[in-house]
Amino acid sequence: MRQEWHRFRNPGLDIGRPATEPAEIESLGLDHWRGLARDQMPPWENPDEVAEVCKVLSTVPTIVAPYEVNELRERLAMVCEGEAFLLQGGDCAETFADNTEAHVLANARTLLQMAIVLTYGASLPVIKVARVAGQYTKPRSDATDALGLPSYRGDMINSLEATAEARVADPQRMIRAYANASSAMNMLRAHLGGGMADLHLVHDWNKGFVRTSAAGERYEAIAREIDRAIGFIRACGLTGDEALRTATVYCSHEALALEYDRALTRVAGGKAYGLSGHFLWVGERTRRLDGAHLDFVSRIANPIGVKLSPSATPETALELCEKLNPDNIPGRLTLISRMGNHRVKDVLPPIVEKVTAAGHKVVWQCDPMHGNTHESSNGYKTRHFDRIVDEVLGYFEVHRELGTHPGGLHVELTGEDVTECLGGAQALVDADLPGRYETACDPRLNTQQSLELAFLVAEMLRG
Ligand code: PEP
Ligand code: MN
Repeated sequence: MRQEWHRFRNPGLDIGRPATEPAEIESLGLDHWRGLARDQMPPWENPDEVAEVCKVLSTVPTIVAPYEVNELRERLAMVCEGEAFLLQGGDCAETFADNTEAHVLANARTLLQMAIVLTYGASLPVIKVARVAGQYTKPRSDATDALGLPSYRGDMINSLEATAEARVADPQRMIRAYANASSAMNMLRAHLGGGMADLHLVHDWNKGFVRTSAAGERYEAIAREIDRAIGFIRACGLTGDEALRTATVYCSHEALALEYDRALTRVAGGKAYGLSGHFLWVGERTRRLDGAHLDFVSRIANPIGVKLSPSATPETALELCEKLNPDNIPGRLTLISRMGNHRVKDVLPPIVEKVTAAGHKVVWQCDPMHGNTHESSNGYKTRHFDRIVDEVLGYFEVHRELGTHPGGLHVELTGEDVTECLGGAQALVDADLPGRYETACDPRLNTQQSLELAFLVAEMLRG
């Protein structure tokens, strides 16, 4: 199976090159989005400056390579077939200030820890996709914030700082976002290849979690089983295998500031690739069928995702499949449901049924975060761990009943001990939130809550 995965590690000279000829740009439709309706448009003030910045970005080395994008699509095809599981997670909004070695590696480490538990629980390969190296834009429900200032739209657009000047959209921030994304990915690749993903090491971290968590006892059985499995692998002399020492973590972000993603698009093998990240998704607020965002992602060969809230109908889901994956390429399209724990069991089944009956191959992924947000008694945007777990449970139930594959999870997390989501074994309550509420946007699961979720999902996967 692994040999199969490495099929694309032979890029030859077909590296990405910028599309420069108007005829080629036209035939690939790369700029068609510019003439379409566009939600959540960054409030740029100077189009010439935007164009200048994009010109720079159109020639820089890209964040990812076309063959990696193809490889991820092939791996996601396995998820479509029920032969793999997708784990996607990271910050709601990355920031330039937090793009430190410590933060990026802590997030990656948490993702790797979760992945091992899920690999064991599902007995399937787990494909790891981080929200990293480009998650610098945010859609906002309101154009202004509580103070009446223009809303913060992510570090790629403006600054979180609460002054009118800081909230002006600054195109130069796209350059900083690119620089931060490429340095994050560079460091991540180095560490992933250099031992941080070693199965033994990651499992040791998990054992540390089980030892210290208030709910550790509950997870001891699974941790012990994994321990025995690793002992078995070691006894068989398989420890030298590269697969046990390294891991691939792909990068993803919401394709929101289309200028940025377009500028980092290149052509390889006659196809366009969005090389600002491996996996790009379109958010709930920008997924109108005739709009700019869906048009742009329909033109690139990347695996792409679309978020679906309870407002999505089965017809919409079907139209998305037809528009974004007319050739029904497995791995191309991931439908990310974010229904909320109270709605998932009503809203998701007819969507899955309709898409499945039409023969469309998609990855069904559950985002249990965005439908479960509420305001705490002391005014913080938060989420309760129990509702997050409950939505995942509902999602598994729906797929079990329909005989479809619950392909993956999409979560907002950080490998730090923040206090942004309630509950979990630490039993965080409203009064705990001010302690370490550090997110630039939505509340993230902290390290312990993330690992707990992985252990609980491993239990669900084992039935
Ligand atoms: C997000 O993933 O951070 C997000 C904004 O999600 P959604 O589009 O589902 O609201
Ligand atoms: Mn979010």
